Amino acid sequence: MRAMIGTWRMSLGGVARGLGLLEAGADCLDAVTEAVAFVEDDPAFTSVGFGGLPDREGCVTADAALMDGGTLRLGGVMSAQNIRNPIRAARRLVERAENCLLAGEGAQRFAREAGLEMQDLRTPQALARWREALAQRDAVRQPYRGHDTVCVLALDEAGRMAAGTSTSGLFLKEPGRVGDSPLVGSGFYCDARYGAAAATGLGEEIMRGCLSYEVVSLMRRGAGPHDACVRALRGLQARLKRQGETMRDVSLIALTPAGIFGAATSLRVFPFAAGKDGAAEVYLAGSDGQTRRASPGEADAQP
Ligand code: ASP
Repeated sequence: MRAMIGTWRMSLGGVARGLGLLEAGADCLDAVTEAVAFVEDDPAFTSVGFGGLPDREGCVTADAALMDGGTLRLGGVMSAQNIRNPIRAARRLVERAENCLLAGEGAQRFAREAGLEMQDLRTPQALARWREALAQRDAVRQPYRGHDTVCVLALDEAGRMAAGTSTSGLFLKEPGRVGDSPLVGSGFYCDARYGAAAATGLGEEIMRGCLSYEVVSLMRRGAGPHDACVRALRGLQARLKRQGETMRDVSLIALTPAGIFGAATSLRVFPFAAGKDGAAEVYLAGSDGQTRRASPGEADAQP
């Protein structure tokens, strides 16, 4: 059984590509890397990689990570500029037992020395959007709007599993701000014995519940992937409520070693792409805990 799931409608092309690579016998880590890189390369997806969202000072800095569910090794970069495909840096770093998570200048130097393509991730459109937002002082005070992470989980024929993430983080974030996406246990977790999970949404909330680890931990204790996502999300939601806080935007995906996937969201609708042994399709998870396949018209209308 080969299976792949990715966050948002934007991951559809990447998931289709990753599934194709798995069919052709690619390594699970490579298939996830290529699926994520596919999304990073497309400037139409404005929250990931090339054409990503600028921070308050107009720089695009990326967070990305990759985890091997067999060895539990992980690699990642955070607050990194000018790496064309941050996930490719994570792919190299996941091979390491130490120094596998690099930030800022160290991450950039690593990528340069590894011979990875270096490129300014700012597109004219991204800079125009940044200038426009700066002109509206409200947007600067409320940097949350406009973001999304591409998260991809995969299972290959040999039962290997991997999880990858990549994002430019929150629009107009404070320089140096890092979200959940490169943080193991928060943005992603993968243990091939029990499954993989990943998160997208407001990183500062996701981190407070270590939500990806929580999902995998629930699956280890016997929960199905859908239930595990719903329980992890609702658990944090209830905990925040006791603090007098309302969860804003958190969505979770999960995949089991049997190729069964699940998702949960605090949004009204959260689109994701998934497929097994064949074509990828778009699904919609709702805040009511239900998930269904999107019709072609609905799928096209999703982010
Ligand atoms: N989780 C990402 C972050 O906080 C953003 C997102 O997935 O929407 O950086």
